[in-house]
Amino acid sequence: MSSFFLLSPGRHFLWSPDHGSDIVASISALAERLEVRCGTVSAIGALMYATLGFYDQGAHEYRTIEINRPVEIANLTGNVTIRDGRPFLHAHATLADSKGEVMGGHLIRGTVFAAEVHLRELIGAAPVRSHDPTTDLFLWRDGD
Ligand code: ZN
Repeated sequence: MSSFFLLSPGRHFLWSPDHGSDIVASISALAERLEVRCGTVSAIGALMYATLGFYDQGAHEYRTIEINRPVEIANLTGNVTIRDGRPFLHAHATLADSKGEVMGGHLIRGTVFAAEVHLRELIGAAPVRSHDPTTDLFLWRDGD
């Protein structure tokens, strides 16, 4: 049975991660520093390099797609929830190259050229991530 979580809006943060930082690790670290246990994330900007993932549903593992050139973050959408006791970012991105051609997928890492992040906190009985045997992914489950 699917899980349903009723949450209320909390704090909003606008933030520019450092040039050269990994946007995925940086957003997770920001959420931890601000004690955001649940929230949604969006961002735009540009990356110097990135690694996207595609989850192989048969093999239960991520295939990686390396992008070794500058790209625009046409869209980054994600959420922060607790995994292993710490805020964890799950983000997907659409990245556009110099011809405007796009690649997309699960964002594993991305080296920031410049970026603008909007983190929206959600308050209440938030989901936490735990291992799901059907998919082999860490999916949302009821918290405490
Ligand atoms: Zn994903």
